[in-house]
Amino acid sequence: MNNKTETGALDEPVMELRLHSFSEELRAQLTALTSAQQPKAIQRLGEELDELGQWLNERYNELIRLLEISTELNKGILLDDILVRIYTFFKDIIPYERIGCALIDDDGENVTAYWAKFTYATEPKISKGYSAPLEGSSLQAIIDTGKPRIINDLERYLERHPESESTRRIVAEGIRSSLTCPLLADGRAVGFLFFSSTKKHTYDGLHQEVFLYIAAQVAHLIEKSKLYEKIVGLNQRLLAANQQLREQASRDALTGVFNHGAIIEFAQQKLNRAMRVPFGIVMLDIDYFKQVNDTYGHIQGDLVLRKVAATIADEVKPSDRLGRYGGEEFLLLLNDVTEEQVLAVAERVRAAVEHVEVPTENAPIRVTISVGATYVPPEAAVSLTEILQCADEALYRAKNNGRNQVQLGRL
Ligand code: GH3
Ligand code: MG
Ligand code: MG
Repeated sequence: MNNKTETGALDEPVMELRLHSFSEELRAQLTALTSAQQPKAIQRLGEELDELGQWLNERYNELIRLLEISTELNKGILLDDILVRIYTFFKDIIPYERIGCALIDDDGENVTAYWAKFTYATEPKISKGYSAPLEGSSLQAIIDTGKPRIINDLERYLERHPESESTRRIVAEGIRSSLTCPLLADGRAVGFLFFSSTKKHTYDGLHQEVFLYIAAQVAHLIEKSKLYEKIVGLNQRLLAANQQLREQASRDALTGVFNHGAIIEFAQQKLNRAMRVPFGIVMLDIDYFKQVNDTYGHIQGDLVLRKVAATIADEVKPSDRLGRYGGEEFLLLLNDVTEEQVLAVAERVRAAVEHVEVPTENAPIRVTISVGATYVPPEAAVSLTEILQCADEALYRAKNNGRNQVQLGRL
């Protein structure tokens, strides 16, 4: 976020630190840090971070479980939650009016602003997604030392480093001092936490020490939540891919409508339902299709099949289902209908197919369909085979009666 030319700026905070004189109380706390007796607030923070780790594991398991039921998920849910909690936890230990978090990309090349939370009301000048190369930047130098960097007068810093775009932005937000903490998980740089204050000279060596004390815990939490998010995302994609495979397995490759097995299964499910709704089963067969193949060839014949399937599908509701029952024969399941509606839909579909044209070099191909329709009342005690037979007989009558028509078969 800072650029190459400011690498040398790292000397400055060290100098400031030496000049800064700690208050007696801070001194005492700092000494306590290195001794066995830790200040209570820091001890409590350590414990809270431990608990946060447990919470993260539970949240992750819960999300994976949830994904088995639903694939709806907001991205960034784990990492954002962790950061919001960190924002709350640190308030007794390090002063700040803003905490920002930037993450190092997987390839280690760029640092990207990921998150920020602040108490003051202002238009944020560094927004999510703001990205800069890591190499040669002052942030890289912070990683190399592994120590938090303090800048206690950002306006002065900006005067000396006018090329630092991120400093310019943060100063414009009203920030005057900053504590930039590297997040190292097992020696690997994960990102940065930026503590910032609207007052000059907010940070000192004690805050640096305090952060270092719990730095590994924080870095691991952030690293783990990133990793978990990745796994959750992968799991989500896997589930979606599975769903797609299942979907493909039930589809007819040529026409895209359900295949024979799938449409029969849907029909059986409808029939088996304890609280059955009335439904319709409609069998549709293209008239003289053999002639189409013989005249125009199989490839054109396939095109006709696809177009007829699409036309039928267009004429019915999304809650209805269309399947390819055989070669040039389709089966339509009409959901929650009366006998009149079954007939009306069948007639509408027939009329629509009549107008289909498949262009050729000469005159377009036109086809008609014959239709056998059956209405299945909820109380009818019939098997699926009986229903299909009834529809098939009606279709046969339509064929014998001159084709391009609908016949109703009563159970
Ligand atoms: P009818 O009016 O009595 O139904 O006559 P038809 O010619 O449509 O009936 P028939 O059962 O004699 O012929 C059906 C034809 O459908 C024969 C077959 O080659 C063709 N067919 C079946 N599946 C496909 C396919 O996937 N692609 C193509 N192009 N043709 C197919
Ligand atoms: Mg036919
Ligand atoms: Mg046929």
